[in-house]
Amino acid sequence: MKKRRRRRRRAGFRKLPVFLLMAVLAAAAALGIHQIMRGECGPGSDAGSAVLMGAGGRIEEAVRDTEERQETQQKLQEPAEEMTGAEQTAQDLEADSSGKYASDPENAPKLRIVLDPGHGGPGITDEQELGAIYRNTYEKYLTLEIARALGEELSQYGNVEIFYTRESDTALTLKERAAYAASVDADVLISLHLNASREHNLFGSEVFVSAYGEKYAYGSGLGSRILSELVDYGFASKGVKTRLGSHGDYYGIIRECGSLGIPAIIVEHGYMDEDRDWGRMDSEEELQELGRRDAAGIAAYFGLEKGRTLAELMEPELELPEISPVQPDITPPEEVWYTLSRVSENSAEITLYAEEPESSLMYYDYSLDGGETWQSAQEWTEEGPVTFAAEISASQESDLIVRAYNTYELRTEAERR
Ligand SMILES: [Zn+2]
Repeated sequence: MKKRRRRRRRAGFRKLPVFLLMAVLAAAAALGIHQIMRGECGPGSDAGSAVLMGAGGRIEEAVRDTEERQETQQKLQEPAEEMTGAEQTAQDLEADSSGKYASDPENAPKLRIVLDPGHGGPGITDEQELGAIYRNTYEKYLTLEIARALGEELSQYGNVEIFYTRESDTALTLKERAAYAASVDADVLISLHLNASREHNLFGSEVFVSAYGEKYAYGSGLGSRILSELVDYGFASKGVKTRLGSHGDYYGIIRECGSLGIPAIIVEHGYMDEDRDWGRMDSEEELQELGRRDAAGIAAYFGLEKGRTLAELMEPELELPEISPVQPDITPPEEVWYTLSRVSENSAEITLYAEEPESSLMYYDYSLDGGETWQSAQEWTEEGPVTFAAEISASQESDLIVRAYNTYELRTEAERR
């Protein structure tokens, strides 16, 4: 993986034209788009592309080092810019006798963070461009709103430079997004998404990271800080996870960035097709709050301070995995069974047991009609078994099905004991 180097000076980040976003949202609302496809969100796997772990990164680095040297030489030939009074005062405020804060914030070390609003584009030939489609809107608009708020919030901290893979409704391949991140010499790419599930019954936030070595360590460290902010906001935690495909990391954006030496993570904030989660993203204010939560997690992981520019950037702690790649859980919960005790003629208390040694138990649900319809899934919050009350008569007991899910959405029907 790429080591942090001295940072070049860059122009400040570009602000998203708000009027454009508003126009786009208004257009979407006017179209009255309904659920025209099963809107399962996935950053896509781009399975056909080649993976050149390591080699690509080194070449890239050599090219960039040359560019950097040229730029430094150019800078030496340029006359020094004169400092205005206001700038001088700002720098005096930044300066600190401890040396903790940068006396020259412009030249202080900076993290180069690429925000990648998931999806984008008209979706005429490629439905993936739209992302999930629910509630008369598209995921691609909502991720853009989150990215804008995240960038604005993060820019209030020192030591960061923010870049966007897209700032409007444009189509980009995953490869193009990764190439853009490399072109701006990114330290990390954060891909922003919203989820949906096949049966519209799941909820919660999750983060996908590379399964490999240092990239796993970096991604899981950063991802868990972001996730804990989202959990504070009210989302259930589905954890920080890996997913492998035949070409390495399953998700294309993680794999493409990885091949260029850039750690990338995917933040799935919550489910558009689930009422509890939707309640935390159903307005502009809510989406902006998601962006601010992400920013707080990022700032916490890198030790950034609001309104202050640090003289030194903290090297993030990397807990290397014992075995790489870090395997995802591919088996459902085991030893799943329940007991039922009658409370009254029409109600019973059910206790559900399950074991999940590889990941964690995440949800449970049940059907009273042999699987025709399902009660909404509930979060498995206990360490051990869960106990819940069900409105069920004695004659319905033979049609009862109870299921336990893990964080990988794999589930097992419980046996009655
Ligand atoms: Zn998505």
